[in-house]
Amino acid sequence: MGEPRKKKKYAVGLGMGCRKISLEFGEKPENFRKKCDVWIESTGKGSFGLYYPSMHMKHPIYLDNAATTALSPEALEAMMPFLTESFGNPSSIYSIGRSTRVAVEMARKSVARILGVKPMSLFFTSGGTESNNTAILSAIRDLGCTSIITSPIEHHAVLHTAEHYSRQFGLPLDLVALDDEGVVDYADLERKLELHQESGKKPLVSLMYANNEIGSLLDIQRVGLLCREYGAIFHSDCVQAVAHYPINLSESFVHFISASGHKFHGPKGVGVLYVNPSLEIAPLIHGGSQERNMRAGTENVYGIVGFARALELAMAAYEQDRAHIGGLRGLMRELLLQRLPGVRFNGPEQGLYTVLSVCFPKSSRSESLLMDLDQAGICVSGGSACTSGEAGGSHVIRALANREGCTTVRFSFCKYNTAEEIEYAVNFLQSVLSPEKAGVGV
Ligand code: PLP
Repeated sequence: MGEPRKKKKYAVGLGMGCRKISLEFGEKPENFRKKCDVWIESTGKGSFGLYYPSMHMKHPIYLDNAATTALSPEALEAMMPFLTESFGNPSSIYSIGRSTRVAVEMARKSVARILGVKPMSLFFTSGGTESNNTAILSAIRDLGCTSIITSPIEHHAVLHTAEHYSRQFGLPLDLVALDDEGVVDYADLERKLELHQESGKKPLVSLMYANNEIGSLLDIQRVGLLCREYGAIFHSDCVQAVAHYPINLSESFVHFISASGHKFHGPKGVGVLYVNPSLEIAPLIHGGSQERNMRAGTENVYGIVGFARALELAMAAYEQDRAHIGGLRGLMRELLLQRLPGVRFNGPEQGLYTVLSVCFPKSSRSESLLMDLDQAGICVSGGSACTSGEAGGSHVIRALANREGCTTVRFSFCKYNTAEEIEYAVNFLQSVLSPEKAGVGV
C-alpha cells in the first residue's frame, strides 16, 4: 500500500472580497474562512462538499421564527422569580400562594388590555393547539354548531381537530376556496354560509388570521360580520398574529381566538383562549377549579407571566419591530429576485411581514437544499415545524395552484435578525443553486 494519492480540492468563498482559491487535500484553510461569508469546498467532481460558515458571523442563523422564537431576556427576567423563590401554588391560601395568584391575574389583566377585552374572557392554556381544540369542541358540543367551515391551509391544530370532531359528531365539513396566494375567497365563504343556513345548519367557521407557512392574511372584521349575518360561530387561530399586529377584539365579531407565547419571544407551553363573554362553554380538560372552572390543572405561573411580558414588549415596540422585520423580508425578496432566476413566492407580497415562503425551481441542486442550509448553520423549514415529517410535502403548498415545480423553503424573521444574516443566507443559496452566477463553478 503506497501513500494515499493527494487530491486537489477547491475552496470557494463568497462575500467580503473572497476569491476562488485551491488547496491541497488536508490543508487547513482557517485564514481563508475568517474572511468569507460563505465557504464551500468542492470534491472537484462538480458536486459540492462541505459548507463552512465564516467565523465572524454569529451561528446558527435562525430564520425559522414562525416555528418558534427565542425567549427574550426581558421575558425571562419577569419569569425568574416564579421559577425560583415565588413557587407557591396560586390556589393556596397562604402568602406565597397568594402572590402567585396575583401574578397570574396581573398577567391576565395586561393581556386583556392589549387585546381590548375583559380579563374574564381570557383563559390561559398550554398553547395554540389546546386553545384551538377547546374552541372547536365547545362550538360543537356546547353552542349547537352542526357543520364546520374551515380552509385547507389551516394549521393541523385546527384542521385535524375539525376533521376529528366532524367524524365523531357526524357533521359536514366544508373547505372554503382560496385564491392563488392562499387568501380566502370571501364570496365563496358567503355562498357556503348561505347554503349551510338554507339546509338548517349552524356552522362553526374556523379561519386563521395569518397563515404560518405562506403568510396570507384574513380580514377578520369582514369574516366576523359575515358570520354574524348568517348566525355562525367564528373562531380564528391568531397564533401567528397576536403580538405581530395590534388586535382589538372589542371591534371584531369573533367568538374565539387562540394565541401562543412561543411565537413572540415568550415561553413555550403557554397560550391563551379568548371566549366571547356572551358564550357559555364547558371545559376541555376536567379536574380542579382553576381558570374559573374552565381549564383544570395548576397554572403555569412562570409561563403565564412570561406570556404577558413578551406581549407587552412586542406591542410597545410594534412600529419599530415591524419596520425592521418587514425590511428584512423585503431585502430577502429583492436579493433572491436579483440573484436566482426563476424564483417565485408563495403567498401575497403584502402578507404577514414575518414570513417569506420561497418557491425555488426544482433541480438536482434544490433536492438537498434544506439539508445544505442546515449544514451551513442556517435554520429554516420546508413548511411548518409541525409538518416537517409530512409525506408528500406541505398540505398548505399542495392547496395552492401552480406550485408543482417548486422546492419550497419558508424563511421567517424576528427582531433579532440582521441584514447581514439575510445577505449571508442569500449568498449561500446562490452558491448552491446558481454557482455559475455566483462565480463558484468547479
Ligand atoms: N396555529 C398556528 C397557526 C401555528 O403556527 C401553531 C404553531 O406552530 C399552532 C397553531 C400551534 O401552537 P402551539 O405550538 O402553541 O400548540
